[in-house]
Amino acid sequence: MTYTALYRKFRPLKFEEMVGEEHITSTLKKQIVVGRVGHAYLFNGGRGTGKTSAAKILARAVNCLNPKDGEPCNECENCKAMLAGTLADVVEMDAASNNSVEDIRAIREEVNFLPTVAKYRVYIIDEVHMLSTGAFNSLLKTLEEPPEHVKFILATTEPQKLPATILSRCQRFDFKRISNDNIIKRLRIICKETNIKIEDKALELIAILSEGALRDAISILERCIGEGKEEILEQDIRELVGIPTFEYINEVTKNLIEKNSEGIIKIAEEVINQGKDIDNFIWEIIKYIKDILLFKATGTLEIYADKEKEHIKELAEKIEKNDLLNLIYDLSELASNLKNSSQKAILFETGLIKATLKKQETTQTVFAPQSNETPKKTSRIEIEQKKEVKPKLENNVSNIKANGGKYWDNILNTLKSTGKVMLYTNLIGTTAKEINDMIVEINFNGKISPFAKTVLEQRENKDVLEKLISQELGKVMHIKYNENIGSTVKKNDNSMDIPINIIDE
Ligand SMILES: [Zn+2]
Repeated sequence: MTYTALYRKFRPLKFEEMVGEEHITSTLKKQIVVGRVGHAYLFNGGRGTGKTSAAKILARAVNCLNPKDGEPCNECENCKAMLAGTLADVVEMDAASNNSVEDIRAIREEVNFLPTVAKYRVYIIDEVHMLSTGAFNSLLKTLEEPPEHVKFILATTEPQKLPATILSRCQRFDFKRISNDNIIKRLRIICKETNIKIEDKALELIAILSEGALRDAISILERCIGEGKEEILEQDIRELVGIPTFEYINEVTKNLIEKNSEGIIKIAEEVINQGKDIDNFIWEIIKYIKDILLFKATGTLEIYADKEKEHIKELAEKIEKNDLLNLIYDLSELASNLKNSSQKAILFETGLIKATLKKQETTQTVFAPQSNETPKKTSRIEIEQKKEVKPKLENNVSNIKANGGKYWDNILNTLKSTGKVMLYTNLIGTTAKEINDMIVEINFNGKISPFAKTVLEQRENKDVLEKLISQELGKVMHIKYNENIGSTVKKNDNSMDIPINIIDE
């Protein structure tokens, strides 16, 4: 079963089927029942939290011929046409690839016409924060005086990028991350209905990894199924997602405990170059340090293999409980900063260095008087070190960007090996390039058939590609197809976006 099939099959078709967003669905249903549906909505929330599903249900509910308690019937002519995506009055647009003034102008002209079949023309604009400034201005004019027969549903993962003028004209609903329990519940249902065997620990791990995004959870599950195993085990998921091995985790932790800045830079670069998921990696380290702390406090270590227990015992002897707590605190802060960052590699590396330097300062203040031969004015020297670190990191970033060929090859291979043959064959011979922090441009060098274009433009296919690219690059990315040029697009290099004082206190 393919990702598309699995995800589609279990996509909620009614508000009541949506997991964990009752605060939103009950309000929307009420509005529909009393006939007070607004003309513009903003659905805000992380990836895979159900914004698009909710938008589609809402579009059906307002146009349904037999709505019941605010829900669409999903059986009338209108509902069926909308489910099939053939009702011209409901327009879904992805602002990541249609973000120009012309795109919005086309809507502005269109809205003046009455809907052809349905009661309302509904425009669902996904990733609306990607619109250009001109497009926003154009949209604003429509939102100011919308015709009676038009509804807008805007969806975004980054509301802070929207102009206040747009925000103030929309009813805003914030979609929450879905709880691990709810994700597990949903996955269990899916596994049961599709006869997939999976161990509980594996379900828990998927829930943790998906971070509240049900769509991501289903996607991980689907990738595991693609492996063709009889029963999905926790270990399968670790391998699939590339959860770091204990060697890496141990090495990083050891360098953190030994306050070895050079060592930490080396291992951090290795982790980055290996394309590990940095968010997961930090959490694995935090968990590992927590276990060291637990071992210090209670003397027990349950879940580890013998070899690993030895490592943990060694590390536990080198550090005090308080310092372990401080490390956990610093790394948790780093993890939460990483979550919202588009510069994960840099933040990851500098965060780890910062953790080693911070400890060095306290330790060396204590021991400074003993070493009169090396008059380490520690704080000065550290500032010098910090300055030296910077160009190194820049190089690192450009290395990663120059590696476009490699990650693109990886992605094509994944498509091939996971049976996405249609996508794969249509992407043979293409190249990919990060043109900024949000967009990867895929270049066809002028060779793309209309058929290939249709396939590639399908939302599900774009989802698959964007997901893979985001995983490879460790940040949320969107794609843009370019049929005309090879690689002449000017790089919008904002790799120096990070504040220089990021390592300083
Ligand atoms: Zn209906």
